[in-house]
Amino acid sequence: MHFSVTILGNNSAIPSPDRFPTSQVVNYENQAFLVDCGEGTQIQMSKFRIRKSRIDHIFISHLHGDHYFGLIGLINSFNLSQRTEALHIYAPAELESILQLQLQCAATTLQFPLHFHALRYPQHQVIADLPNLTISCFPTRHRILCFGFIFEEKPRKRHVIAEKAQQAGVPVSFYKNLQNGEDYISPTGNVIPNASLTLPPPKPRKYCYCADTLYDESLITYISGSDLVYHETTYLQQDLNRAVERYHSTTIQAATLARKALGNSGKLLIGHFSSRYEHLEVFEAECRTVFPETYLAIQGATYFIGTPWKERI
Ligand SMILES: [Zn+2]
Ligand SMILES: [Zn+2]
Repeated sequence: MHFSVTILGNNSAIPSPDRFPTSQVVNYENQAFLVDCGEGTQIQMSKFRIRKSRIDHIFISHLHGDHYFGLIGLINSFNLSQRTEALHIYAPAELESILQLQLQCAATTLQFPLHFHALRYPQHQVIADLPNLTISCFPTRHRILCFGFIFEEKPRKRHVIAEKAQQAGVPVSFYKNLQNGEDYISPTGNVIPNASLTLPPPKPRKYCYCADTLYDESLITYISGSDLVYHETTYLQQDLNRAVERYHSTTIQAATLARKALGNSGKLLIGHFSSRYEHLEVFEAECRTVFPETYLAIQGATYFIGTPWKERI
């Protein structure tokens, strides 16, 4: 099962010619989940060949413009391209009236159902329960109500080793029970342990998007067990005071949180870089002094969740 994230925008508040505000696409099999939608997201989608029609779910972390100013444009394009499939938006409650006003002032009637899922309370909760994935939100510590999102694979069934099952005389009709972990009892009463006939499923994979936030150790509980964590590093460590003033994090803070939450497993992806910095390599270098498995969120790059690691598109 393909599980990855593609970066569309890696900058913070002010767009620059070569760095767009926050947006990324989580890919799971044939589905694409859009996480934040800063200005220019549509342009980045075209550039990196993300098919808009694959997107049925959009997650907006908070209502600072660098995370949603591209949304009304995207919704409008969906409408112009004759979309008929339902679109689900998960976002702080106020966004619903903002969108309604924008549509109303343009006398736009949507040709597809738009389901708005209002996030009102700063608490961890499951917001989408899909066949293979569970998606939940959790509060981060920012200047306004802000949510991170967790994409977690559902546990898969055990894998039947057909050769061994045949040798043991297990009828094919019982394979489903084997997949669910049951032992096989032969007609003569012989118990054949499940573990000798099946292999365990791979560990469910997990991606955690931490949105905008101050350094906050209460996030460890949500981050732990992730294969990949996205954490903002708006500032280098030398600008720690500025980070605290503006409810953002530095490189060393993000890496410290990753180290505390992940130990020696998992990887850290960093983004939301301030426009004051021209070069990004130093962000990666600073983080790696604390958490070696740190990688820059590069626009257009796709990062696999679990292995193999990274692929450029
Ligand atoms: Zn931001
Ligand atoms: Zn913000």
